[in-house]
Amino acid sequence: MLEVVRPGDRLYPAVRDVYTATGRPAAVARPSSTAEVVEALRLARDTGGPLSVRSGGHGISSVATNVDGTVIDLGRLNTVERTGGDLVRVGPGARWGDVAAALHPWGLAISSGDSGDVGVGGLATTGGIGLMGRAHGLTIDHLVAAELVTADGTTRRVDAEHDPELFWAVRGAGANIGIVTSFDFRADRVPVVGHATLQYRIDDVTRFLRAWGETVESAPREISAFLYLMGGGFALATIVYAGDDPERAGRAFGPFTAVAPVLGRQAQLVPYAGVVAATHAPHRGQQGATTHTGFAVHLDEPVATGLAELATSGTVEMLQIRSTGGAINDVSADATAYAHRHQNFSVTAVSSTVFDQAWERVRPMMEGLYLSFETSFSTELLEAAFPPATLSRLRDIKRQVDPDDVFNQNFPVTAAVRS
Ligand SMILES: Cc1cc2nc3c(=O)[nH]c(=O)nc-3n(C[C@H](O)[C@H](O)[C@H](O)COP(=O)(O)OP(=O)(O)OC[C@H]3O[C@@H](n4cnc5c(N)ncnc54)[C@H](O)[C@@H]3O)c2cc1C
Repeated sequence: MLEVVRPGDRLYPAVRDVYTATGRPAAVARPSSTAEVVEALRLARDTGGPLSVRSGGHGISSVATNVDGTVIDLGRLNTVERTGGDLVRVGPGARWGDVAAALHPWGLAISSGDSGDVGVGGLATTGGIGLMGRAHGLTIDHLVAAELVTADGTTRRVDAEHDPELFWAVRGAGANIGIVTSFDFRADRVPVVGHATLQYRIDDVTRFLRAWGETVESAPREISAFLYLMGGGFALATIVYAGDDPERAGRAFGPFTAVAPVLGRQAQLVPYAGVVAATHAPHRGQQGATTHTGFAVHLDEPVATGLAELATSGTVEMLQIRSTGGAINDVSADATAYAHRHQNFSVTAVSSTVFDQAWERVRPMMEGLYLSFETSFSTELLEAAFPPATLSRLRDIKRQVDPDDVFNQNFPVTAAVRS
């Protein structure tokens, strides 16, 4: 029977909030099968009010909870099974750290994000910019099929042959078209990876960012590198070499030690699961923040200067610069609803205060936007997330599959039509 948790129930405090926000939903439905997801959707539609879909509850824009509406919490759909060879079937409620741990004994891994607590459902319906991205592509590039419940309660298996338009839309704008209840991925054979962490002291942020950008872009594809810049003087880097040869890994890490004075360093061969372990810390809205984001093609002089000004302005607490490029850019821009296939960096600024004006000076230098790293929403941002041809195709699909705009919480493609 479908479990529905309401205010006053013993379990309510544990299911009302997400990682980035507190919530006060009228009902949290916790389906344990696809049939129960259909039932939960019917309940939500009959009740009316806001509808939130939640997988891991780590969505940065906090739309996986609400006030006085219904949450469909897919946390119990969290199995990871091997279906043959390199194919695995994963539930949306699994966390990426648990997926990595389950895949490791089979010698397999799927590039996900940098946090093992992030849920499969939110990340695998928007992109998945991960620590093996330059070697193996986005998470969605590994998707071969998905089970999807659409607004009318129909369950469909979508893949390249069945409902190919829906399969295209799931890979970048999944939240707009339905609830994914299961993902079939082709995993990569990755027994272990080289994992390096570096701490830098920075004297000149512009020069540092230029050197970082050039080092990332000239690194072999096995390298993916994420940078976390705190204020102006200090940065942490996580660098993964997607391979098991320690000498090659060491050679590939080498140039990163010359980017700036290194205060601390560590490098080892570990299972990918060791890079993205899940903590399963309870959600209490503990990480609320404002973030703005965009893609950069290169960290050239104007971009590096703009980002350095932002980082040292005192308005932003952290600048995250994740490598994209490599295998991610081998896929054509129209192959998936995620269309950003020529940029080399995803840039995200994080602050506990509003910093819209400071970000406005950087935004014109960015090309496109990854919707999962943005806490604001506007027609302009929607158009940055989905270029014109992508947005138009998504709207056609949306009209057919969700004419009542039931799934309207997360970068709704209907927004510009309404405004
Ligand atoms: C600490 C942290 C680090 C991160 N690092 C990265 C990173 O390195 N790379 C990266 O790509 N992303 C990263 N992200 C962003 C992350 O991918 C997104 O926030 C993602 O949406 C979280 O997935 P979730 O299932 O936990 O989210 P939830 O909060 O459960 O869901 C977010 C939204 O996604 C949609 N959604 C969720 N599940 C489904 C489903 N099954 N079907 C349809 N729609 C669904 C819903 O609209 C929902 O509101 C990070 C986020 C955090 C908090």
